[in-house]
Amino acid sequence: MIPFLDVKRINAPYQQIINSAVGRVTESGWYVLGQEVEAFENEFAAYCQTRHCVGVANGLEALTLVLNAWGFPAKSEVIVASNAYIASVLSITHAGLTPVFVEPDPRTYLLDPLRIEAAITANTRAILPVHLYGRCCDMDAINKVAHRYDLKVLEDAAQAHGASCRGTRMERKAGNLGDAAGWSFYPTKNLGALGDAGAITTNDGALAERLRALRNYGSGQKYINDYLGFNSRLDELQAAVLSAKLPGLTEANNRRKELVKRYLTGITNPDVVLPPADQVELDAWHLFVIQHPQRDDFRAYLLEQGIGTDIHYPIPPHHQQAYAAYAHLSLPIAEQLHRNSLSLPLNPALTDHEADFIIGTINSISNRTFELLLPT
Ligand SMILES: *Cc1c(COP(=O)(O)O)cnc(C)c1O
Repeated sequence: MIPFLDVKRINAPYQQIINSAVGRVTESGWYVLGQEVEAFENEFAAYCQTRHCVGVANGLEALTLVLNAWGFPAKSEVIVASNAYIASVLSITHAGLTPVFVEPDPRTYLLDPLRIEAAITANTRAILPVHLYGRCCDMDAINKVAHRYDLKVLEDAAQAHGASCRGTRMERKAGNLGDAAGWSFYPTKNLGALGDAGAITTNDGALAERLRALRNYGSGQKYINDYLGFNSRLDELQAAVLSAKLPGLTEANNRRKELVKRYLTGITNPDVVLPPADQVELDAWHLFVIQHPQRDDFRAYLLEQGIGTDIHYPIPPHHQQAYAAYAHLSLPIAEQLHRNSLSLPLNPALTDHEADFIIGTINSISNRTFELLLPT
């Protein structure tokens, strides 16, 4: 059996360095917002080539705090892709703002810059591009529209640790492509903690300072509260684990790329639509998402053969009960992506042998396979 993801296997090479990090924190007697957090913030800012990094409790709150810090009037609109992850949309709602769904480019699954302008109204204040599956959005085009309409740009980089975007002038890292970026270090992400953790990267010093207060009750100085803040602090243990794992991120991402190349050249089943392969080296390849017209049968067959898969995501945000107010919208590109998408196993611990078995199994499936094996 090849599971879709086995986080234990991914963390195994880091076991010793994690253990010593945990020991260091236990010994220190200081457990929330201390030296470990500060050290990780500096290391991650350097990794993303940004001036600032602010550690917070998780990815959802990283995004929410930035939108809160910008202080837009209530009900201001934020543009987001209609196939975004639910957390991206929740951050908008939780900041008291209104999501405006724009359909993605069906080839890249990412916010389509050509559709943004038509969605801008007098109330639009920001664009929230999600670097879904680890591929950077077309940030040159998005920043150009944002500049023209004086909008803020908040990257959702929670799936894009180590991804890059090749702009007109230079190549830049995810997290350094807008006004601010929200990160998640949930255990399954390319850089994962042993629990919840998140961060914001930005080059805006005033924003970073405000976020440092907002994550800690709105207090810059102990017991002095300048803002209506939150408790969204990063703890020392998670920061120490992240510092232990960060030096291995590039190598881990390179292993993902090797496996992706194996999939891209190996999978020849004509019913399978492969993900875009025009920037294999720039992608962080958080997920390898294919499309199949009979996704559910295809998935059931793979499982029968011992291959675990997952769906990112089965239901688009506007069809979730929580967003019933948006249920009337017709967003056919997002709806089709949610119907046909399937994520294959992809992580640094996957072996060539496992990848080859997955490729061979996929290539052996035809429509006839479903008729023979899965009578309905
Ligand atoms: C994981 C994720 C988040 C949320 O991060 P949490 O740490 O789980 O709150 C937000 N956006 C995207 C795209 C994600 O993948």
